[in-house]
Amino acid sequence: MVAGDQSDPADVLILGGGPGGYVAALRAQQLGRSVTLIERGRVGGVCLNEGCIPSKHLSRFAAARSAAEAFAASGMPPFSGRPDMILFQKSRAAAVDTLVKGVSSLLQGAGVKVVEGSARFVGRTRVCVEIGEESVRYFDFKDVVIATGSRAAGGDASTVEPSRALEWDSIPATLLVIGDDYIALEIAVAYARLGSQVTLAAPGDRLLPDFDRDLSTAALRGARSAGVEVALSSGPTLGNWERAVASGDRRPNLDHLDLRAAGIAAPDGKLNVDAQLRLDRHVFAIGDVTAGLPLAHRAMAQGRAAGDVLGGKPAAFDSRAIPRTVFAAPELAAVGMTEDEALAAGISVSIGRFPLGALGRAVIESATAGFAKLVFAQDGGAVLGAHLAGPRATELVAEMALAIEMGATSEDLALTVHAHPTFAEALMEAAEVSLGRPIHVRGAAKR
Ligand code: FAD
Repeated sequence: MVAGDQSDPADVLILGGGPGGYVAALRAQQLGRSVTLIERGRVGGVCLNEGCIPSKHLSRFAAARSAAEAFAASGMPPFSGRPDMILFQKSRAAAVDTLVKGVSSLLQGAGVKVVEGSARFVGRTRVCVEIGEESVRYFDFKDVVIATGSRAAGGDASTVEPSRALEWDSIPATLLVIGDDYIALEIAVAYARLGSQVTLAAPGDRLLPDFDRDLSTAALRGARSAGVEVALSSGPTLGNWERAVASGDRRPNLDHLDLRAAGIAAPDGKLNVDAQLRLDRHVFAIGDVTAGLPLAHRAMAQGRAAGDVLGGKPAAFDSRAIPRTVFAAPELAAVGMTEDEALAAGISVSIGRFPLGALGRAVIESATAGFAKLVFAQDGGAVLGAHLAGPRATELVAEMALAIEMGATSEDLALTVHAHPTFAEALMEAAEVSLGRPIHVRGAAKR
């Protein structure tokens, strides 16, 4: 290795080009900073290359098969034949490539300097970048953003991590999925819909334990009706499966960064930042390396806020309205407080619950099992949380995130005219239920 002691100045140095890092780079550059971004793999990070995008591609592919089967009941010629996973993988790779190239071209167009290599701190304001096995470069930064993301914490040799299960070019006859989180659920449902015999072994007594209980129940029912055998409170699982996947905790990519050289502490293995995403005056951290939900849109929101702060704007990151989505059967989504969380915080709540069975669009789509459950403060009616199950839930949750951000109340939602026939009407109707004046459901009493 050639280790020169010359270094390049870097106005803003960003370590990691995932959704956190590349968004921070674009925003800081937009605001007049000169940004250098170090990425050891492909820009887009886990999200584009092996997480959100490939997993949603698989979920959509599998859902199309179920939809085709449902349409057959109303007269469409039935689906026949086995899904071609080799072709599917080609289309998945093409979608990922398109998006990765898109991010590269945005960075290039903005003037962000991208350096391919692996970064580590060698001083309080100095980073060393190993480029291949042959050379290194040093950068002396004014400000640095740690955005190196996370990786699967690792299971035993008999299982693979979820990202690998998105790359299979054949459908296993039998599949064991271990976990109770959204990633485990999405993989279990997708392969069941594609024809695998799937067992989902969840360690606790419910799926999605950190969601509202009603969503956990909907997730369990939906998975079972998609053909997944769900084993709750399951210990070590015995049996013969063609393949096995384990989903669990993710570990922040901090171990190779040599944080001590920069005087940075990560007491519980994650970085605890302030509202401006700072660890120190000139050291920022965003995305999965920070304590909180490991989600791409959270990383991007933090990236935007960090970019603003780097550009001299009075910005802050607020985690109250971070949506969470599950692309399973049915789709599930949540934002803000659960009923239990609000009660635990001593807030009296009013609940608006509207069943999709009373909605025209849901009847057309034979998707009547879902619901919208909205949590409002009893005092003033502000929207505190939304918990949705059913088609398009992952899109509808954006309206509820906006409602929380804007301080909207149950009256605001109830008085907003929603187009008919759409799933979005469920939100307006749930608000009416909470106000004790339901139109399309009988006998829903105000709580
Ligand atoms: P990452 O995306 O991990 O990016 C970090 C980047 O830093 C990587 O490109 C890495 O190569 C680079 N890097 C690491 N160390 C170094 C170093 N020393 N030097 C240089 N570069 C380095 N989130 C959602 O919001 N929605 C979803 O639907 C969703 N689905 C998922 C499905 C799966 C199967 C998985 C695994 C994750 C999913 N996620 C989803 C989570 C999401 O992918 C992550 O939260 C997100 O990618 C985190 O972004 P980040 O920028 O913090 O880090």
